[in-house]
Amino acid sequence: MNDEQLLRYARQIMLGDCDIDGQQALCDARIAVVGAGGLGSPVVLYLAAAGVGYLRLMDDDVVDRSNMQRQVAFTLADIDQSKVNVLKAAAQLRNPDVTVDAHQTRLNVANVDKLLADIDLIIDCSDNYATRFVINDFAIKANIPVVFGAATAWQGQIFVMRPRADRFPCYGCFNPSREELDASCALNGVLGPLVGLIGSAQALEALRLILGQNNADVLQIYDAKEGVWHSIAMSVRPDCLCQTTGLDKM
Ligand SMILES: [Zn+2]
Repeated sequence: MNDEQLLRYARQIMLGDCDIDGQQALCDARIAVVGAGGLGSPVVLYLAAAGVGYLRLMDDDVVDRSNMQRQVAFTLADIDQSKVNVLKAAAQLRNPDVTVDAHQTRLNVANVDKLLADIDLIIDCSDNYATRFVINDFAIKANIPVVFGAATAWQGQIFVMRPRADRFPCYGCFNPSREELDASCALNGVLGPLVGLIGSAQALEALRLILGQNNADVLQIYDAKEGVWHSIAMSVRPDCLCQTTGLDKM
């Protein structure tokens, strides 16, 4: 690390649980961010600011005027531009040391093996269950942790899945039907700061995972009407696909 980097990351390095070794781990980390909207905005900006060395972004969408209320990385000048390209530029403007690989495409079962190859950690900033299950099933196979996040109406949630040798809950363990629920922001509305709060929490959990800390197996729910967090310890569903069939056989 050079002098400019030591100065840039000084507030992190002075943390006992980070130090130089932790900062180096962040600089060496390769993280995929799936979704470049309201959650992806704070996630990408905070991870770039923290010095995460490599970010791979994927989202097929372009910036729309209705995004301005909560997708804070975008400005009016970005309307109709590719979200991943705008976010890439915003990240590199803040930290040119970060490599950002932007893909204007939607993650699906056909491209997941390619798009999520050579990644240490996945952050789910998507807005639909189909994408979440593509990430979930790939991550179990590939043994990669995932920080899931969602925010709609007055509630946000975050769940960290960390695959390991012993039994661990996956996203399917608490959504066994795997059905798409009509829970999008477009249908239910959402307050911008709630999305920012959940995205910031996802970025924080990602940094903690890279630093060797983790909060896996816990579903954290923020109730924005009451202004309180609830933590629910998740357990494995014996009938979940991840337990019964083994995803390598899917
Ligand atoms: Zn499961």
